[in-house]
Amino acid sequence: MENGNLIENFICPHCKDILLVRKEGQDDFYGCRSCGASFPVFFGIPDFRLSDSYEDYEYDMLSCRELIKSYKQYDFKTLWKGYPWKNNLPSRGKVNIKFEKIYWKMEEETFLKHGYAILYKINRYLELKNKPALTRGVSFEAGGAYGLYTLGFSQYFKRVFFTDLSLRNVIIAKKFIEEKKLENVTIFCSDIERLPVRDNMFDFIHCNGVIEHVRNPQNIINEAYRTLKKDGIYMILSPNKYSLWIEPHYRLIGYGFWPKSIRMVLVRKFRKVADLKGTILISLRQLKMLIRRSAFKNSFCVYFLPKNLKETSRLGLVRKITVFLFNSFIIGDIFDFFVNKVFISVMPYHIALCSKKRSEEKNNEVNL
Ligand SMILES: [Zn+2]
Repeated sequence: MENGNLIENFICPHCKDILLVRKEGQDDFYGCRSCGASFPVFFGIPDFRLSDSYEDYEYDMLSCRELIKSYKQYDFKTLWKGYPWKNNLPSRGKVNIKFEKIYWKMEEETFLKHGYAILYKINRYLELKNKPALTRGVSFEAGGAYGLYTLGFSQYFKRVFFTDLSLRNVIIAKKFIEEKKLENVTIFCSDIERLPVRDNMFDFIHCNGVIEHVRNPQNIINEAYRTLKKDGIYMILSPNKYSLWIEPHYRLIGYGFWPKSIRMVLVRKFRKVADLKGTILISLRQLKMLIRRSAFKNSFCVYFLPKNLKETSRLGLVRKITVFLFNSFIIGDIFDFFVNKVFISVMPYHIALCSKKRSEEKNNEVNL
């Protein structure tokens, strides 16, 4: 893992001016030359969060201190599941065991394929639209949790940047990246609504299952636009509020269609969570509106699955049938018309591909 060249790449997330590396005793930290903000380096990871970035900051730091005690002794998978370090933390309410089991089964089935699978899907879609495949330059994982996508990304891209709002997640990602010996990945902890990154840095930004967890989704789209290179592509995967399928956070069918009060009762019963704080699902309409309000304007497209898909990373009957239908003569086109047009507003999730146009081009036409 390479954390060099940090200083040339990072800027103050607050005022966007240059950061200087300073030393305080044994520890390095980043100081802003304009606004005086300073950012610590914890366990080799620069932490660019601002004081109001993360409500759960105290608990996160407590977890980090427990986590680094187990860091050397255990492998990624054990740390990822949380057992050795979570035991020493104050309990965070009841866990739905059945739900956890389903979750881990799903993750284990796919976790090494995640990065490859998403790039494959995007490139298939670009091919459908007669567009060139994603540039193999610099990519950014915006809100990447435990870093599972970095495996596929580090092979495809020359360089990968990775961040998450939870420092605990970034430490687990660090373990993953070290175990897999990924040499071209740079990690840091930050708020993706206020990135510590220069303008025009990335060829590709990946933001998967994050938009529903941020305070202001408009800010993350604006920051993506700013940090994306011209002609770069920004991908948002947004779990759909009005999915007819099972909602991934609460395992509730038809999540958005239930009246809010009934939804709360069902969620409490099934997921045993007290409230829906921290997860606000958005609809297709909301997603499109947010992108249109940003500088991307109309340079985007939204789809569910590209019809030229030949494989899926998750196993299971529904996925097999989907691939089979897509690849059937005539039926493939009809099926595509239904899932990507007629019923797209009730599909499980939406993928938006946004493109940052060159300034000489008009910004008001769809190019994807
Ligand atoms: Zn500053």
